[in-house]
Amino acid sequence: MFRRSKPDIQIKTPEQIRMMREAGKVVARALNAVRAAAAPGLSTLDLDAVAEEVIRGAGAVPSFKGYQGFPGSICTSVNEEVVHGIPRASKVLAEGDVVSVDCGAILEGWHGDSAVTVPVGTVSDDDLRMMDVCRESMWRGIAELRPGRRLGDIGHAIDSYMASQGSWGNVQEYGGHGIGTEMHMEPHVLNHGRPGKGLRLEEGMCLAIEPMANQGTRNVAVLEDEWTVVTRDGRRSAHFEHTVAVTAQGPMVLTAREDDRPEIEKRSFPDPGW
Ligand code: MG
Ligand code: MG
Repeated sequence: MFRRSKPDIQIKTPEQIRMMREAGKVVARALNAVRAAAAPGLSTLDLDAVAEEVIRGAGAVPSFKGYQGFPGSICTSVNEEVVHGIPRASKVLAEGDVVSVDCGAILEGWHGDSAVTVPVGTVSDDDLRMMDVCRESMWRGIAELRPGRRLGDIGHAIDSYMASQGSWGNVQEYGGHGIGTEMHMEPHVLNHGRPGKGLRLEEGMCLAIEPMANQGTRNVAVLEDEWTVVTRDGRRSAHFEHTVAVTAQGPMVLTAREDDRPEIEKRSFPDPGW
C-alpha cells in the first residue's frame, strides 16, 4: 500500500497527505478549544474533557488515550513540566501558569499530532519570551522540510535559532518523529544536529516537529508517575509542535490552525486548506 524509500520511512501520496490534513484539522480544533477554555480554576482534567469531546465529536479517536497505558486524551504539562504531563482533577490552573497541551487524533487511520503552550491569564515577560523563542524555533525547523534537505538541517535550524536568542535549555532527550498510519514512526527527529547530515528528505515524508525550550537547564527528569517529564532545576518550559508534509511546493503544515495562517503565508508555505 505504501511506497517506502529508506528502511521504514513511510512515503505518502498527495491523497494520503490530504487525509492527514483532515486528521490534523481535528487536532487543530481540539487545541483551539483547549486554548479558549484554559483559565484559572480549571483543572488539567477539565482541559482533557474539552479536547476529547472535540476529537470524538469529529468522528476521530484521541491517539494518546491508552498509548503505552497513558490515561489521558491529551498531555498537559504545567510550568516546570516539559512534556507528557497526565491530566488530573487535582492539577488546577492558576493565574500566571503556562500549560503545554499536546494533542493527537486518528481519523480514518491517519494521525495528526500538535502541541501549543498556552498562557493562563497574564503571564510574565520571561514566559512570553520563552513561548516566542520555542514557537519560532519550531517554524525555523519546519522551514527545512523540503525535498533534498537533510534531517540534520532541521535540528540545526531549531538549535541554532534557540542558541541565538539567549541561554535557553534545548531539551535533547525527546524530539520529533515520522508520522502517518502510526503516531510515532521512523525517523526520530532531533532538535539539534549538523547541517547537511542525516537522512535526505523526500516528497511525501511526514514529520512531527516539536522543540522544547526551558528557561534554565536543558536537563530533565521523569516523575514517579513514569510519564511526566520535568526540568531538573524546576524552571519553566515550553513546547510547540506541528505535523508537516514534505511537498514539492515546500512544507505543508497539516495541523495548522487559523492563527498559524499569517505565519504560513509569510513564509510562502503551501496552502494546507482551511
Ligand atoms: Mg505531540
Ligand atoms: Mg509528537
